Amino acid sequence: MSSLEERNEEIIDLYMKHINPSLMRLVAFMGYDVIEDRAEGSHVYDIMGNEYVDCLGGFGVFALGHRHPKVVGAVKNQLEKMPMTSKELLIEPYARLAKKLAEISPGELQYTFLCNSGTEAIEGALKLARLKTGKHKFIYTQRAFHGKTLGSLSITGRDVFQEPFRPLIPGAKMVQFGDADELESAIDDDTAAFIVEPIQGEGGIHEPPDDYFPKAQRICREKGVLLIIDEVQTGIGRTGKMFACEHWGIEPDIMTLAKALSGGVIPVGAILGTPSVWEVFEDNPLIHSSTFGGNPLACVAALATIEVVEEDNLPEKARITGEKIKSAMNDLMAEHPDIIKDVRGRGCLIGLEFADSDIGGLMISALASRKVLVAFTLNDHSVIRIEPALAINDDDLNWILNAIRESTAEVKEIAAALG
Ligand code: PLP
Repeated sequence: MSSLEERNEEIIDLYMKHINPSLMRLVAFMGYDVIEDRAEGSHVYDIMGNEYVDCLGGFGVFALGHRHPKVVGAVKNQLEKMPMTSKELLIEPYARLAKKLAEISPGELQYTFLCNSGTEAIEGALKLARLKTGKHKFIYTQRAFHGKTLGSLSITGRDVFQEPFRPLIPGAKMVQFGDADELESAIDDDTAAFIVEPIQGEGGIHEPPDDYFPKAQRICREKGVLLIIDEVQTGIGRTGKMFACEHWGIEPDIMTLAKALSGGVIPVGAILGTPSVWEVFEDNPLIHSSTFGGNPLACVAALATIEVVEEDNLPEKARITGEKIKSAMNDLMAEHPDIIKDVRGRGCLIGLEFADSDIGGLMISALASRKVLVAFTLNDHSVIRIEPALAINDDDLNWILNAIRESTAEVKEIAAALG
């Protein structure tokens, strides 16, 4: 065994002993049990020197690919000056980022609270909605994914994650995604907000009917219920618009961001709200706070990221790339309808639905052997998501598409042999 292989075995052993043995077994089953070492653009390299093409993008984090030089440069510069804040004085990058977000976000969103992850942004959004309305109930959608802290979990539409933790926060009610009539009947006098992803990501990449959001928004306005749009996965160009809710002209009361916002260099989360929602800070400006939220490293990373997204017109690139992927995958589905059941999504958020989760699992292993990094959607294991960098080049895209074609043929043979 080479010294690199020995190092790899040691890390597997440490995962087994000190991190999560069951997760380690799952990773090994999928064929990803090797240490990642470095990354650049759409490529990840393991310690053995193998090159992978990243088609998962850290669950949607790497809209710009890995280590975009502009973002890395901005962070390095800030690192030399002041990585964290005193928490007493003003933070210039925070103020500039909040202004930029107000400029690019839809409707009347004007204020920003920064935190460090998607689920933290959701927790804050739920708290603001309760404060603003003085009501406590939330409506969420089946298959929704909003994170795994207790509040977010209470509105995450998958039983396997919720069940072991009941009772969750009271007053959360689930409705079908895409059914505005059901939303209307679910609202009662205690409903604070309706929270929804514009396109469900972890639920298996689902788009709503075109009339859903206009109707849902009208119902929320009429009934005095806040509309919280969760753009943690769909935001920052991924679906072909800066924010996916723009596909349907939605104007949220509150919007949450994370993942791609800081270019995959420093963790960040954001809650955006209208002036009306932000009145909740009047009585007590510290009613919601975060030690690391708004740190200047994340802020300069986010500012540089938005600059790149705008300068390189990445939403448009995502739209074009998405069309190429969908067209190739639709052809493949026509060839193998027994293996691929559906191709859906927009921009660079595409879901491939397989006949069942076993076929999905075999596909992931087959793709791993072709050095393509992919993963299930968290709430539906029969669906693999294709989430490349928005400006992925044709060579890398062809690598992914060819690997999916070859893997589908291979999995079909295995499935036939297994009967
Ligand atoms: N909201 C959505 C739509 C997500 O897709 C996710 C994560 O996948 C989250 C919230 C939670 O984000 P995080 O994992 O950063 O807590």
